[in-house]
Amino acid sequence: MTTALACDPGTFRRGACPSLAAPMRTGDGFLVRLRPVAAALTANDLLAIASLARETGNGLIEITARGNIQLRGLTLEMVPRLAEGLAAAGILPQTGVAIETPVLSGIDPSEITDATPVADALRNAIAAAALTLAPKLAIVVDGGGVLSLADMVADIRLDAVEVGGAVAWRLSVGGDRETAQPIALLSSETVVEGAMTVVAALAAAGAGTRGRDLDVAALVACFNAPALPIAATIPPHLIGVHVIGGQFVLGVSPAYGQVHADRLAALVHSLSACGATEFRLAPHRTLLVRGLSEPALAAAQDAAQREGFWCTDKAPGRSVSICAGAAGCASASFDTHAAADALVAHAAELLDGSADVHVSGCPKGCAHPARAAVTLCGTAEGVGLVLNGKASDPALSTIPADGLVPAIQRLGNLSRNRRGDHETAKSLIDRTAPALFVSAYQGQQ
Ligand code: SF4
Repeated sequence: MTTALACDPGTFRRGACPSLAAPMRTGDGFLVRLRPVAAALTANDLLAIASLARETGNGLIEITARGNIQLRGLTLEMVPRLAEGLAAAGILPQTGVAIETPVLSGIDPSEITDATPVADALRNAIAAAALTLAPKLAIVVDGGGVLSLADMVADIRLDAVEVGGAVAWRLSVGGDRETAQPIALLSSETVVEGAMTVVAALAAAGAGTRGRDLDVAALVACFNAPALPIAATIPPHLIGVHVIGGQFVLGVSPAYGQVHADRLAALVHSLSACGATEFRLAPHRTLLVRGLSEPALAAAQDAAQREGFWCTDKAPGRSVSICAGAAGCASASFDTHAAADALVAHAAELLDGSADVHVSGCPKGCAHPARAAVTLCGTAEGVGLVLNGKASDPALSTIPADGLVPAIQRLGNLSRNRRGDHETAKSLIDRTAPALFVSAYQGQQ
C-alpha cells in the first residue's frame, strides 16, 4: 500500500505516554511499560524499580526486545502509586514517540557521532508539531559504533555517515539499515527538518500509517539529495562481554526477558559488589553493565547466572520469545516457561538465532506481536502450532497441553535428522514441508 504524500506538517495530536498514562490490560492485570529518560541507571534506580514492581504489581519484570522495562500484574488503583514512586526515586519516564539511539551513544569512541542531540531535537520537534502518529511508530537515530542499531527495524531511520570528513545523516524509511528505503542524505543542520518531512507525511496519511506504507518516490522528490549506499554491518549480539574504548561492558539478559523483582534486586546487589557502576537498558532484552574490571567479570557472570540471567550470546533460549504464561497471566492455558525450557532441552536445532520462536499463552501474542518462524500458542483446545505466522493465526495442529513436551521432543528429532551440516534453523524451516512438522507435532511420524 502507498499513501498520498504531504510535505507540510499537519495539525494532529499524538496521544500521551502509552505506559503510565495508559496501562495495558492483560490476563494478569495491567501492564505498564517504562522507558527512563536517563540512558544510564544507577543500582538505586534498578532497586527502586524492583521494589515498585513488588509493591504495585505481581513482581514480574520484563525487559523488552527494544530495551523497555515492563511491570506486570498491576491494578489500575496502583498505577498512580507507581508514578509517585518513580518520581520519588528520580526516574523520569520518557513520553511521546519512541526514538531509539545506540545504547552507548556518546561514550563509544568508535561511533561516527553521538546520536543523542539529534534524537532529542527530533523528539522536541515532534512534540511541538502535535501530530497524530501510529502508536507503535519507531524511529532510529544511529550514530554508529560497536553496538549500533543496524539490525533494528524502524519506520524512520537516520544513520550517521561520513562524507568528505563531515558527518551527514542518511534518511530512510521502513526497515533496518540494510532494508530501509533510502530517501535523502541530510546535513547536521537539516537533519531534523528532513526527518520531520517524513513524520508529517506519516501523520498526513492517517494515524495508523507506518514507514513501509509511504510513497518513497514522492518523498525522494521532496529532497533532491540522493542517499548514499550504506554498509550493512551487523552489530554483535549485546549479550556477553564487550571491550569498548578500553573498558569492559557486560551484557546480561533475564532468561526469556523475564525476571522477578527479588532476583533483579539480588543481581544488582551482586554486580555492585563486583564493581558495577552503571546499568543501561538495551535492545534484545539486555541490561548492559559498566564499571566492571577484567578480574571481576567471571564473578559478575556467575552472579548473573545464579539469578537466572543469560550472559553469553550462545544461550539457545535467546531465540525464544515467551509471555508470562500460566505462572503470571490468567489468560494463559499452559506454562510457557516450561515449554521454552523444553525447546532448549530438546529442540536446540531450531534455536540458533536465525529464526524467531514464540511461545504464547494465548492468541493475544503479547511477547511477539509479529510473525515468528515457529509459534506455540495456547487456546481452550490445547497448544497450537503455527508456522511463519502470528499467535492469532489459525494453528496447523493443536494438541493437549499435557502432550506438549513429547511433541517438542519429536519436533527436535525431526529437525536434528533433517538439518544439513552448517544449515541454519531458518533454512531448515523454510525448506521443510509444513506437513512434516505437523505430523511430528501430532506424533504421527
Ligand atoms: S499472550 Fe500471554 S501474557 Fe498476553 S494475555 Fe495471553 S497469556 Fe497473557
